[in-house]
Amino acid sequence: MSTINSDHIKAAITNLGIENSIICLHSSLKSFGSLEMGPDSLIQAFLASGCTLVVPTFTYECDVPPPVEKRYKQNAYAYEDASYSDRANAYNINSGMISKSLGAIPARILQYKERIRGNHPLNSFTALGPKAEAIIASQSPLNVYGSLKQMYNKSDVYILLAGVDLTKATPIHFAEEKAGRRLFRRWAKSLDNSCIEAEVGSCSEGFENFSGLLAQIERRILVGSSLWRLFPFTSFIDIVSEAVRKDQNITHCSNPACERCEDAIKGGPILE
Ligand SMILES: [Zn+2]
Repeated sequence: MSTINSDHIKAAITNLGIENSIICLHSSLKSFGSLEMGPDSLIQAFLASGCTLVVPTFTYECDVPPPVEKRYKQNAYAYEDASYSDRANAYNINSGMISKSLGAIPARILQYKERIRGNHPLNSFTALGPKAEAIIASQSPLNVYGSLKQMYNKSDVYILLAGVDLTKATPIHFAEEKAGRRLFRRWAKSLDNSCIEAEVGSCSEGFENFSGLLAQIERRILVGSSLWRLFPFTSFIDIVSEAVRKDQNITHCSNPACERCEDAIKGGPILE
C-alpha cells in the first residue's frame, strides 16, 4: 500500500474545493493505511490550506453519578445502578486528556499549543486554525453544541467523515436538538472537586439510517484507502432535523431495547 503524505491530502482539499473553510472532522487514522507523518500529515495539510479543524475531544473518564436530587426522568440513566465511589478524573481544559475511542487525530490536535478547547467536561470540541477561538468560545456545559450553533447558517462550513460513517457524526445530535429533543444530562467532576451538570448526546448507533436522505448533498472521494464523505454543514443539519421531526424513530439503533434511543425518541429528559 502506498504512503499518503501532506501533498496527497492538500490535493484532496483542492479537489473538493474546501480551502479556507471550517471542517468538522470525524476521522479514523487507520483508514489511511500509511500516513507519512501520522496525524500531522493531515493536520498540517488542512492548516496550510487555510482551514480550521473542529474535532470531538470527549472525556468520558470525567463522568460521575448524578446527585440524588437530580434524578431526571426519561434521562436514559440507570440511577439504581449508580455507584458513588469517586474514581473519576477531573476535567482540565488545558490538558491533553481524551477518551481513546475518539482516535489519534483529535488526540494529536490537543497537543498543538494553538488549539482552543471547549468548556465542557464530557463532550468538549477542540478547534485549530484561524477561526478556532470564535467557534469554541460558545461551548459550555449546558450548551454542548454551542460551537455547532455558531457554524449553522454560515457558508464554508463542512462535515467531513474521513474513514468513518455517520455513527461518528456528532452534529447529528445537534440536529436532534434542533428538531426539539432535550439533550440528556450527565455529571462530571471539575478541578475544584464539584459536580458539574452537562448536556450530552444520545445513542448514535442508528445514524447510518440518514445515509439515503443525505446522499443528495454528499460528495465522496478516496484519499489513499480512506473514504472521505463530505457534506455542507447547514444543509446536513436541515435534512437531518427535518427527518427527525417527520419520523422520530429514524434515529433508533438496531437494539429495540436501547434505553438511550427510547428516551431520546420520547423527547429526552424531563427537567424538573
Ligand atoms: Zn440506541
